[in-house]
Amino acid sequence: MAAFDIIVAGAGPAGAAAARALALCAPELRVAVIAPDASCIAGDARRGRGEVLSPLLQPVLRQLGLWQGFLAQGFAPSHRTLVSWEESGLRSSEWLLMARGPSWRVPRAGFDDWLSSEACGAASRIDARVAGLARKADGWSVDCDDGGRHSARLIIDASGRGRALADRLARRARTRDRLIAAYAEATMSGPAAPELLVEACEDGWWYTLALDDGRRAFACMTDADLAHDLGLNTADGWRAALAKTQFVSAIAGKIVAIDAPRLVAAGTRAAAATVGFRFLCAGDAASAFDPVSGHGVVKAMRSGAFAGYAASDCLARGDAAALDRYGAFVAREAAAYMTTLSEHYQSVSRWAERPFWRRRRAGTC
Ligand SMILES: Cc1cc2nc3c(=O)[nH]c(=O)nc-3n(C[C@H](O)[C@H](O)[C@H](O)COP(=O)(O)OP(=O)(O)OC[C@H]3O[C@@H](n4cnc5c(N)ncnc54)[C@H](O)[C@@H]3O)c2cc1C
Repeated sequence: MAAFDIIVAGAGPAGAAAARALALCAPELRVAVIAPDASCIAGDARRGRGEVLSPLLQPVLRQLGLWQGFLAQGFAPSHRTLVSWEESGLRSSEWLLMARGPSWRVPRAGFDDWLSSEACGAASRIDARVAGLARKADGWSVDCDDGGRHSARLIIDASGRGRALADRLARRARTRDRLIAAYAEATMSGPAAPELLVEACEDGWWYTLALDDGRRAFACMTDADLAHDLGLNTADGWRAALAKTQFVSAIAGKIVAIDAPRLVAAGTRAAAATVGFRFLCAGDAASAFDPVSGHGVVKAMRSGAFAGYAASDCLARGDAAALDRYGAFVAREAAAYMTTLSEHYQSVSRWAERPFWRRRRAGTC
């Protein structure tokens, strides 16, 4: 008999939401969350992965009974985003009239740590990385990098873009574009607009926002080959690209010290959310959205929660079709996102001959 009913690999937003949903709707199931302890992950790897959470976070957290706990953390609400996109001017996109309230500026490591400790409390926590997978008669056996081996009737892979288990089973996720972030954090000489500022430029787009520790994040988003040609992994190349922006470079005038730029994969990826017998993917492991959507974390939490509900319907209520329904939901969500993403990029007619924009207009990223 398997030691656990469900193993969740990963304790990011998707894995934490899956564990929480399972604890709420099927507390009788034995759930293990396998993920490396946050203190073992290099600080750099936890930065530059999204510091602005969409207003749609609220209904997801309410559904998981975590909204009051989130508010108690004192994260900063953000009532507008500044955008230069279709046209050269800067406009303000206000969240004030949104029924769901503001967006939120969070230190990502702090938010992820809070979420995982609140949401995974009812599960058995195993501090390790999953490293291998084998099919058994009644489910799966998972090998970990600490030498441990754990069995479960059902797996939820929530290990992010790395798809630590799913890639061992299925075709790799389909990469729709080669978007990459050249990300750097800076110490500033004085205050500047704290909210998110997004600015399109000839080779892609930039974002900048204030971080909670008084520093500021800057990222140039472009395609991997263009990043290479522009030398965005070097301080000189990155600064030269920054100098071509209008609004981001005005804020960057207050930089007194800046870290070396770091390249982070950020492209759209899609894969099947159900992979064989009782195996689900959630969050970025199922589909990874372009950061321009601003929905990565909320989408990951929603799919994690839905994967948890599907797993409990399957194991606790004998509803085997629940897993396919979950897979169909993720596929529909990804298709709707692709349409919106394409419209969003096609709304920019400036720089029509530059490769970044030409690829997006032609749908050949
Ligand atoms: C440059 C950039 C900017 C972004 N900006 C935003 C933004 O502003 N707003 C937003 O909402 N989203 C943003 N995103 C997207 C967002 O970061 C992701 O969509 C979100 O983190 C996905 O959550 P997840 O739980 O699926 O994966 P992750 O957050 O990647 O979590 C994966 C978890 O799995 C664990 N793990 C990894 N490998 C293993 C293994 N072998 N065994 C066990 N555990 C493992 C990790 O330690 C981690 O706990 C951005 C992304 C990028 C790249």
